[in-house]
Amino acid sequence: MKCKRCGRNAFEKFRGTYYCRECLITKYEGAVESAIRRYRMIRKGERVLTALSGGKDSVAMLSSLRVLSKRIGFDVDAMFIDLGIGRYSRHSLEVSKKVAEMLDVRLHVVRLEDYGFTIDDVRGKVCSVCGNAKRYIMNRFARENGYDAIATGHCAEDILANLFKNMYSGNMEWSEKQRPRMEGFDRIVTRVRPLYEMSERENMVYVLAKGLPFLNEECPNAPSTKWKEIVYEIERKVPGFRVSVLRNLARERRNRGDEEFRYCRICGEITTSSVCQFCRNVKKYARKNQ
Ligand code: AMP
Ligand code: ZN
Repeated sequence: MKCKRCGRNAFEKFRGTYYCRECLITKYEGAVESAIRRYRMIRKGERVLTALSGGKDSVAMLSSLRVLSKRIGFDVDAMFIDLGIGRYSRHSLEVSKKVAEMLDVRLHVVRLEDYGFTIDDVRGKVCSVCGNAKRYIMNRFARENGYDAIATGHCAEDILANLFKNMYSGNMEWSEKQRPRMEGFDRIVTRVRPLYEMSERENMVYVLAKGLPFLNEECPNAPSTKWKEIVYEIERKVPGFRVSVLRNLARERRNRGDEEFRYCRICGEITTSSVCQFCRNVKKYARKNQ
């Protein structure tokens, strides 16, 4: 197979066409750039904090943002949250450090343990406590350090699988929080998803073409992949389904901050009750000796 663009030996297929390594990298970064421009995700001069987990998606995000930061004109730093999930967190941190070094990006490391507990201390609803801790720490760290936006590596399948899961459990307000750029308000920092239209496979091929390391290990608490499998199945039967639904979701108009909110009595962050969920988790799981 030859590269469709330059005739050299092909490396892999991207969106139905074979490309060599260099042309595939150019095509992928061009696709991320188009999504950033289409949704006005990141603006010139903004300071963006990328959430790096060490998995293929966030590695692909950081690498492409690093290239696009020069082309579009924004700043990019990275942040890793050490959640304290045994050896999984240790491996993720090692890979994240390596990636940040290779890409010459500044990496901040924040430990959940410094707030009094780790995910290994949690019994029961591990994934919701973990998701809450990640959002809380990212937001607070980004705001306290003057970042304009937080970028996460959520890809097309993540967003659609979550949409189905939430539809199933009757959580319909959730869909309006799935836009590529969610404007910040009050103490909440703007959130962007540069890989909104990219698939897991595309992220994987790009990271391999770039020769970047990534953690090929599932989180030991990872939830079932059945909703993602459903997304693949529909896409197989209805080609173009993914992008079509994502573009419709992106048109949702309502913004966060339309609902009533209060400030947490303990930490001052935004919440709908008197004490925020994160502080309630800290109280519940904090180690006795702290
Ligand atoms: P997940 O919640 O594991 O599906 O990950 C979604 C996105 O959240 C990733 O693509 C990262 O951008 C970010 N993320 C997940 N885990 C971490 C972590 N430990 N530190 C920093 N960012 C993370
Ligand atoms: Zn709080």
